[in-house]
Amino acid sequence: MPKTIIEPFRIKTVEAIPQTTLKKRKEYLAAAKFNPFKLRSEQITIDLLTDSGTGAMSANQWAAVMQGDETYAGSRSFFQLEEVVTKLTGLKHVLPTHQGRSSEHILLAVMGTAGKVVLANNHFDTTKANVEYLKGTPVDLVIKEAHEPETKHPFKGNIDLEKLEQHLQELGDQVAMVLMTITNNTVGGQPVSLANLKAAAALAKRFNKPFILDAARFAENAWFIKQREEGQQSRSVREIVRETFDLCDGFTMSCKKDGLVNIGGLLCVNDDTLAEQARSLLILTEGFPTYGGLAGRDLAALAVGLEEVLEEDYLQYRIASVAYLHKALDKLGIPLMHPAGGHAVYIDATAFYPHIPAHQYPGLALTNALYVAGGIRAVEIGTLMFGTPNEAGGPDNTAPMELVRMTIPRRTYTQSHMDYIAEVLGDVYQQRDMTTGYAITKQTSILRAFTAELQPVTGATENLAGSVV
Ligand SMILES: *Cc1c(COP(=O)(O)O)cnc(C)c1O
Repeated sequence: MPKTIIEPFRIKTVEAIPQTTLKKRKEYLAAAKFNPFKLRSEQITIDLLTDSGTGAMSANQWAAVMQGDETYAGSRSFFQLEEVVTKLTGLKHVLPTHQGRSSEHILLAVMGTAGKVVLANNHFDTTKANVEYLKGTPVDLVIKEAHEPETKHPFKGNIDLEKLEQHLQELGDQVAMVLMTITNNTVGGQPVSLANLKAAAALAKRFNKPFILDAARFAENAWFIKQREEGQQSRSVREIVRETFDLCDGFTMSCKKDGLVNIGGLLCVNDDTLAEQARSLLILTEGFPTYGGLAGRDLAALAVGLEEVLEEDYLQYRIASVAYLHKALDKLGIPLMHPAGGHAVYIDATAFYPHIPAHQYPGLALTNALYVAGGIRAVEIGTLMFGTPNEAGGPDNTAPMELVRMTIPRRTYTQSHMDYIAEVLGDVYQQRDMTTGYAITKQTSILRAFTAELQPVTGATENLAGSVV
């Protein structure tokens, strides 16, 4: 058997990617006020901002798009999707939504989150925001290894079962649900083991709490289980996926990830009353329950995507391509989060630029250096994104870690693109001593990372925290 894992597809439609010059990239970045979120796609050669809705659809999905049924109520495309989802997950009620966060909002609202606590391995940002918006309290109970970049635990996305039991015991009626995010996006796309999911589900049951999944990357999680968990090697991904969903009372899914589509979400539950309430809210905020904010063609493409994502050739290539980039960077000595996640490689910016303090955004310094050197856009996940301005005017309150995420879109880039990324990052690493930090010149009070304006810090490590406007 040849050892090379190939892209398990050939390319039928191509989209040219922009090639720019060093001089131009410097101009573009300055015009974007040194915030890569403000760059335009025609200025970017390789975009690793996110894997959400950025993947390529297959010929079969595009064929399904043409077959999509745009009937307002009772669309054939809905029933096709419903059949695929029921077979995949076994859940009784299938509600489409326009994307994951709307599924979250509806489910959390009908489950009565107000004044209650949601216990999770980790809440994804939008889930956390929705819990808080509904006046609930999100509590993250991921295992401690998740916060140790060097520790090579096979299932760093797991929930700490002891802590979960303790919280269930102590909080009693205050707990609204137990929620598991698979894979665990917040800690780097790290998987959750089947054993951990089963034990968490059993605890939820013992304390009479609903067990809910945030299943955006359900197929990647199942692939990791098949590869890494004892006794799972001979099972099919479909079987593992089904066993995972059989544990839950309901799930939300952003289909922009493992659904292999550019837009779409799902909300599924078993309980009839809950489903009725969810449908009512869905009609109010998304649309009729057989389209949920999507076009019929979107439902049709999703029905195909949810089947394709289970193909083991695809999953093997997907996880291998992320691991390939991770390994190439590791060989260059670049400080990384270990092991590679399912959808992204995370660089430890504190170790990359030890001379840049957290309040001068070493992660942003790295994303900007990467853009200038090779037109690659990554994303800072550190103090610019999660830190807060210091009310007294001093340096920012910093985030727990300064990371840069390089997120790999599905079926979009090839191995030569990965080689290019590694080469550019190698060059950036060679010149790390010359790189300086940044200071904010303008920011908003919420979600500042998306809109902030910055400038490079020149001269010594003066403390420039920036002003709040
Ligand atoms: C992307 C994502 C969401 C939110 O979904 P959207 O489709 O972006 O609204 C929720 N949870 C997880 C784990 C995600 O990755």
